[in-house]
Amino acid sequence: MKKEIKIIFLDIGHGDSSVITFSEKGRKACIIVDGGESKKNKERIVEFLEKEEIKAIDLLVATHIDQDHIQGLNYFLDDIIKEKNLRIRYYWGPRPEEGKSFYVNDYESLLEKPGKYTTTKYIIQSVAQNERLYEKVKRLIVDEANIYFPSLEAPPPLDIFENVQLELLGPYRQIPSNEIKAMAFAIPSGPTTDEILTIEDFEMTVEKDFEAMATKAHQNANNQSIVFRLTPKGVFDEFKSWQFLFTGDAEEESWGRMVRDEEINKKLESKVLKVPHHGSRNGITEEGLRFVKPSYSVISVGQKHGLPDKETLSLLKKCNSNIFCTERNEDQRNPVPCSKIKDCPKIGRYGPILFAIDADTGKVKITPGDEWCRVGWG
Ligand SMILES: [Zn+2]
Ligand SMILES: [Zn+2]
Repeated sequence: MKKEIKIIFLDIGHGDSSVITFSEKGRKACIIVDGGESKKNKERIVEFLEKEEIKAIDLLVATHIDQDHIQGLNYFLDDIIKEKNLRIRYYWGPRPEEGKSFYVNDYESLLEKPGKYTTTKYIIQSVAQNERLYEKVKRLIVDEANIYFPSLEAPPPLDIFENVQLELLGPYRQIPSNEIKAMAFAIPSGPTTDEILTIEDFEMTVEKDFEAMATKAHQNANNQSIVFRLTPKGVFDEFKSWQFLFTGDAEEESWGRMVRDEEINKKLESKVLKVPHHGSRNGITEEGLRFVKPSYSVISVGQKHGLPDKETLSLLKKCNSNIFCTERNEDQRNPVPCSKIKDCPKIGRYGPILFAIDADTGKVKITPGDEWCRVGWG
């Protein structure tokens, strides 16, 4: 059997999704990190797993509750439940709702209001997506004891593979998703969490701008992204300098905490950085990059929100990182100099980036663009 690690950053439009396969105890092991947002992305995960002949998901990671990371996972797990063809060994994900103390009893009626409270709706939907994901994971996991909501306060077992090392770098702690939702409805001088209000009562009571609170709640969700580093070891020991840093949508607060912690900051250095938050300026910081020192940076984006931001691109260029981008930004409202991004795909709308570490030949091959995934092209 070929001794190989493959890490693919899938081509999913706006969102994040990566799949890692590697030789482990005479078979091929598999880690999935996030699942993007759309049904198309589910097809891309399935296509890659079929090509790699994957028989089990050893570790499924949902970095945080946002839909552009977990909605696609929900579609994907629906398929698995239907076809009963794959089980999950370990799960790392965002902490689901705990307790029912929530003081707006018909908050879902907000979803009916057209053109209003965009971010508030997004939080409500993301929390609901996470609840669904958690239920599906419970059905598919081999042993419920292997469901973890990782944080530095409560780390999961990390020594689960012989040939890759996992190190958890964030978040510091995980807030249950009903608390994130409550943050979106927080009012400093308003009712206590014991009082149950209708959304109409709540709109009358609220003193602050709904959207501003929801934006803060959204930042909190991003800053709880599970951040981890993967390092080849065992039969891949000669490639141990090829560390990959997975960052979800970690924003400034999360990076600040990681760089200030001397135990953590020495583990940030990585050859390949999955650039946090789709290259948004609310993502990687200049200080964070001084610790990561990425030779390669992968930005997972689509035609949404005008990402990546040019501020992020110039930070990455300043540290001489080779930038790969899963999609060319053609958003005319916020154009970035995409032609200057290395191997930003020029053909088709999407372009996955594949890193293949081959212990038999001693080579690492980086394949951007169209070689691996053809679903949905043209
Ligand atoms: Zn995201
Ligand atoms: Zn996010």
